[in-house]
Amino acid sequence: RALPTARTTLELKDIFIAVKTTRKYHRSRLDLLLQTWISQARGQTFIFTDWEDRELRLKAGDHMINTNCSAVHTRQALCCKMSVEYDKFLESGQKWFCHVDDDNYVNPRTLLHLLSAFSHSQDVYVGRPSLDHPIEAADHVQSDGSKTTVKFWFATGGAGFCISRGLALKMSPWASLGNFISTAERVRLPDDCTIGYIIEGLLEVKLLHSPLFHSHLENLQRLQGESVLQQVTLSYGDPENKHNVVSVGGVFGLQQDPTRFKSVHCLLYPDTIWCPAKKMS
Ligand code: UDP
Ligand code: MN
Repeated sequence: RALPTARTTLELKDIFIAVKTTRKYHRSRLDLLLQTWISQARGQTFIFTDWEDRELRLKAGDHMINTNCSAVHTRQALCCKMSVEYDKFLESGQKWFCHVDDDNYVNPRTLLHLLSAFSHSQDVYVGRPSLDHPIEAADHVQSDGSKTTVKFWFATGGAGFCISRGLALKMSPWASLGNFISTAERVRLPDDCTIGYIIEGLLEVKLLHSPLFHSHLENLQRLQGESVLQQVTLSYGDPENKHNVVSVGGVFGLQQDPTRFKSVHCLLYPDTIWCPAKKMS
């Protein structure tokens, strides 16, 4: 008779959460995250930025990582940050690598629940594809000058994605110690596509498409009520699109909480000091 395999339950401390940010968003975006979800996952969240900000250093301590990457929105600069995130994760020894942007809300409980279904030693790459079809990239040039192409899915970085340690280790030849930047240059792709290229295109491991990750590329107003609290990540529209936010009522108004992150946080963690007191019944 087969004995049940000993399964240690996954804990939040096993997850490494990398938040990508940049100098100009420290006050406008990151402070909101520190106040909300990061306060519930302080030990496992690392902030990757491009500027030594004393105010942020005071709040985040050694969980703020100055990548020394340049503060511009170019492929090179963004891939530089992803490469530092990856290296820091490998160094950490943790079981899961999750990447998010600074306009994402992460629900630590649902994230833990999602990842608990897998083993970190298996090959797992989970997130939301940003397109409804795989992309095609020119891989390498043949001796006759023609190019071979590869088709692959990738998880959109703006919605967040996670990779198991087992898989991250296999990515090492193309991702560690600066190799990530050269891989991205070779295929001329942004950071999140390059991750997909390495995993699906080179390692032939499939992306697990999850509807629980969200970026502002989708219509966030369709997320309403209880279901908002069951997602793994959320986001909000940029200034040109500020009505693209999740629908949660009853806590703060739109003026006080334009991104809806404070309202979501108070619904998830009603005991938070700055949340409105629960009404007595
Ligand atoms: N970002 C960055 N350097 C820049 C601009 C943006 O690292 O020069 C980061 C930003 O902090 C965010 C992500 O890249 O985590 C995506 O930026 P944004 O939300 O402004 O643009 P999007 O691509 O989502 O429209
Ligand atoms: Mn964004």
